[in-house]
Amino acid sequence: MKENLLLLIKLQECDSQLVKLSAKRKKLPEDIDKLDKEFSSFKEGIEKNKMKYNELKARHTESENKIKKLNDGMVKTKERMLEVKNNKEYQAMLKEIEIAESSRGDIETLIISILEELDKLSILVKKDDETLKQSRNEYEQEKKIIEDDLNTIDADVVDWEKKRIDLQKSVSDDLLARYEKIKKRNKGVGVISVWKAVCNGCHMNIPPQLYNELQKSNELLSCPNCNRIIYFQDMEKPA
Ligand SMILES: [Zn+2]
Repeated sequence: MKENLLLLIKLQECDSQLVKLSAKRKKLPEDIDKLDKEFSSFKEGIEKNKMKYNELKARHTESENKIKKLNDGMVKTKERMLEVKNNKEYQAMLKEIEIAESSRGDIETLIISILEELDKLSILVKKDDETLKQSRNEYEQEKKIIEDDLNTIDADVVDWEKKRIDLQKSVSDDLLARYEKIKKRNKGVGVISVWKAVCNGCHMNIPPQLYNELQKSNELLSCPNCNRIIYFQDMEKPA
């Protein structure tokens, strides 16, 4: 292939890689952000049973405290009963104890149902913890891959820039200016391959005569539609 064209193709590769790297530098942090959000909302959802469990646990403690308070109250009432002489007062205290005992019975029933619910929830919470652990592993691995990728970008950019500077030295000023001008007008692509008479830049057909010429000529030819510098490439031939 023509020497000039080969240089331009290599130059184009550097430029395309640099564009790709700069897009990656923008996109990867967004990917990480998305991953973080997905995981934290998954975590929030899966921790609902645990929250319910903790709430019930608190209600259990609260109920136990209520019973203790009722018991203490009853002990005191019984002590006071020993000193009471008046029958009316004595009857009132009996009534007080009766009410306290009935409240205690209600709370005990409640505690039994809380304990049953806690048993059921603890099985779910254990399962949820395992699921969460697995998801956390997957999330952290995925995040690490993206972060590693992100960390190599700077070094890659330096490599491609160096390659580009070296190549540029071998390209004439005129040709470089032509390439840059076309590239600027064509979304960063100044040189493009043609296969089966189709320009891979604009996907339009190349006229037969030009297509023939492209496969033989030593001139730098342009796509009549997008104006990019074109070269013939057999896509079925392994590179
Ligand atoms: Zn074209």
